Formats: sequence, C-alpha cells, structure tokens
Amino acid sequence: MIVGIDFDNTLVDYEGLFHREAVRRGLVPSSTGRDKLSVRNALRQDGRDEDFTLLQGYVYGPGILEAPAYPGALDVVERLLAAGCSVYVISHKTRRPYRGPAYDLHEAARRWLEVRGFLAPGMLPPENVLLEPALDAKLRQIGTTGCSFFVDDLPEFLCHADFPPATERLLFDPLGHHAGEQSLRRFASWREIGAFLLGEGDGAARRS
Ligand SMILES: [Mg+2]
Repeated sequence: MIVGIDFDNTLVDYEGLFHREAVRRGLVPSSTGRDKLSVRNALRQDGRDEDFTLLQGYVYGPGILEAPAYPGALDVVERLLAAGCSVYVISHKTRRPYRGPAYDLHEAARRWLEVRGFLAPGMLPPENVLLEPALDAKLRQIGTTGCSFFVDDLPEFLCHADFPPATERLLFDPLGHHAGEQSLRRFASWREIGAFLLGEGDGAARRS
C-alpha cells in the first residue's frame, strides 16, 4: 500500500499561527476567529488581500517552525511504515512566496519535517518528500508514485479533473468546514485516518 499525504494544513497545523502572527502585526483584533479562514476573511473584507499574502509568506516560511503537526499524524506515518507501506509527502508549493521577502519555502518545509520527526532514521526518506511548484506536477506525482490513497485538506484538489483515478481520495477536515461534502471520505482527525488505513476501524482499507 502506498499512501500520499499533502503537506500544508494536512500535516502542518497553521491555525493558531496565522491568528497569532496577524494579531502580532496589528492586522486583526485578537477577537477575530482563531482559524486561518477567519483571519483571511477578516483581511479580505477590508480589501487587504496583500496583507494576507505577506502573512502567508511568513507563516509558510520562517514562521513554520512554530506550527505543530496535527495530533497523531507522526504516529500514523510511523505505523504505516512499520506495516510495510510506502509513504510520500506530495505538496504543491512554490519555492518563494508570491510577494514579500524571498523566503525559501521548500527549505522551510523540509526543515519542519526534520524538526517534527518525519525524517528521523527509519521514518521518511528525504526523496519521498516531493514539493512541486505547479499543481499539475503534484497531480502527476500522485499517479507516478502509485499512491493507493491520498490525504488532502482541499476537496477541490481531490475532485480535480486530472486527479489520478486509481488513487482513493481521503479528505482531512479537522474543523468540519466540508461537512456537506458527500463524494469524498471525510476524516476529522489523524486518529481516524490511521484507523481507516491500518485496519482498526470500520471499512478498513487494508482488508479491502
Ligand atoms: Mg493542503
């Protein structure tokens, strides 16, 4: 079994960080919702999209090291590998932010994976981390690596017309933003994803 995992907002939990950094920069009051969407919407309502783009460049760059992994993600990767599965991290990520300081976002992502234990000995080999500057390259890599499953936080990505048909789509939706999404298997936590993929729950993937 080969499992592909998206990076931003699937492994990395930025929610608190966007809010904290936006408040620190005086962009939003601390009463704004703590999730990324609330911060983005608050800035967009005021026509401050550029402030959000700059904020995102920082958070996906040097700020990333303050962001935790989603609870259970590391454990699921470890158990998948122990069960003999291959695991890839496949991300659509430009090398530099669209605006603002030219942080190396690929370097920041690899550093985060290292610091959070995903690249520790016996864990992911560095060559299984595929950071693709273009969306179509991310879609292609999911097919090329032969992913049986792919976990992503964006339904629009999983439902893309060019998504490899042989790969089963798993939607990671920790905040329940996509409760109405009927066409995808939806998971609220990595614990649930682990149970599904490792055969501990209903509809176990490894039994099928
Ligand atoms: Mg994502």
